[in-house]
Amino acid sequence: MNVLVINCGSSSLKYQLINMNDESVLAKGLAERIGIEGSVVKHQAEGKEKVVIEEPMKSHKEAINIVLKSLVDPVYGAVKSLEEIDAVGHRVVHGGEKFAGSVKITDEVVNAMKECTDLAPLHNPPNIIGIEACKELLPNVPMVGTFDTAYHQTMPEVSYIYPLPYELYKELGIRRYGFHGTSHRYVAERAAALTGKDLKDLKIITCHLGNGASVTAIKGGKSVDTSMGLTPLEGLVMGTRCGDIDPAITTFLMNKKNMSAADLDNLMNKKSGVLGISGVSSDFRDIEEEAEKGNKRAQLALDKFDYTVKKYIGSYAAAMGGVDVVVFTAGLGENSKDNRKEICSGLEFLGITIDDEKNNTRGKEALISKDNGSVKVFVIPTNEELMIARDTQLLSK
Ligand code: ADP
Repeated sequence: MNVLVINCGSSSLKYQLINMNDESVLAKGLAERIGIEGSVVKHQAEGKEKVVIEEPMKSHKEAINIVLKSLVDPVYGAVKSLEEIDAVGHRVVHGGEKFAGSVKITDEVVNAMKECTDLAPLHNPPNIIGIEACKELLPNVPMVGTFDTAYHQTMPEVSYIYPLPYELYKELGIRRYGFHGTSHRYVAERAAALTGKDLKDLKIITCHLGNGASVTAIKGGKSVDTSMGLTPLEGLVMGTRCGDIDPAITTFLMNKKNMSAADLDNLMNKKSGVLGISGVSSDFRDIEEEAEKGNKRAQLALDKFDYTVKKYIGSYAAAMGGVDVVVFTAGLGENSKDNRKEICSGLEFLGITIDDEKNNTRGKEALISKDNGSVKVFVIPTNEELMIARDTQLLSK
């Protein structure tokens, strides 16, 4: 069975065609600048040269059309005909309280997704456009939706409720939802497999540290707390997002600087985080380079990031009454030994250790804690596409 996994952003579309017999990637690629000038698809099939297709793409439907043509192209394609695409799995950002797992897409499901749009106005609309475009182009192929929020629907009330008037939760759905669920779920399952234990018997803290970053507490195989909230702005310091701040800063800035809601959204989502502190970049590699040259604000940004992750690990160990496994994943988690070391230093009292030699690794699965450390610390590259493909296979039968 071949599953096409689609991840639609506002002007981009990532895809992978996965052969579920051996979970190998037959082709993958990225359509960029959809709806704007200079649109392009970068496509690569297994064992073939990468191709760059420059063609105008006014809409996601046109982009998906080009992707489908690329997949069956006699020269650079991966399959002979579209008949070989057996199912499509879509990433959907926000499932609100309606979706606690992946679902087969029907008209009712699409309507329910639309009802969650208020909660993710930037993300859900392109996800839904992608689904509708696929439905038109591949009308007989079953489709499945996998939600970033679904995994965290197991959080207990005490984790997800905000200390605001309870009516706001009932009326507007203002509560904590959490994101990156597919990634946290994947690495937690891999961590259990690597330790040879059942997920049910483990307390795991997963740290998804990329441009967007979140930490999740997973007890007995269930997400019991996570650092992102109503939106992906809460929690850790991120590339450009501020994470946890005193909420009164917003009203303070509105009064002092006459800022509007849109100004604040922009400030907190696009101009803050390590970019805001360092003034250098949102990319950790640039900041590390500057810090090495003696740039104090760059160093402060890195220190603040690491310190915040450390605090979350400590608090989640407390929330779960202990921790057996810590996992680092995503761009920074998979690649930066310095940040991993800094985050874990001082956590020896919890049994969390780093073996410098083992930690000298990047981009592959590795156990990086000391042999005598009671907590196993892993680097595990995430694979959200595979998780979506597995759910799609399961649900499209
Ligand atoms: P997202 O999917 O959220 O955009 P990724 O998981 O791809 O992000 O992570 C991207 C981030 O990972 C980049 O901002 C970069 O700072 C960081 N990163 C990647 N490689 C390294 C590295 N070798 N050292 C430090 N940071 C890295």
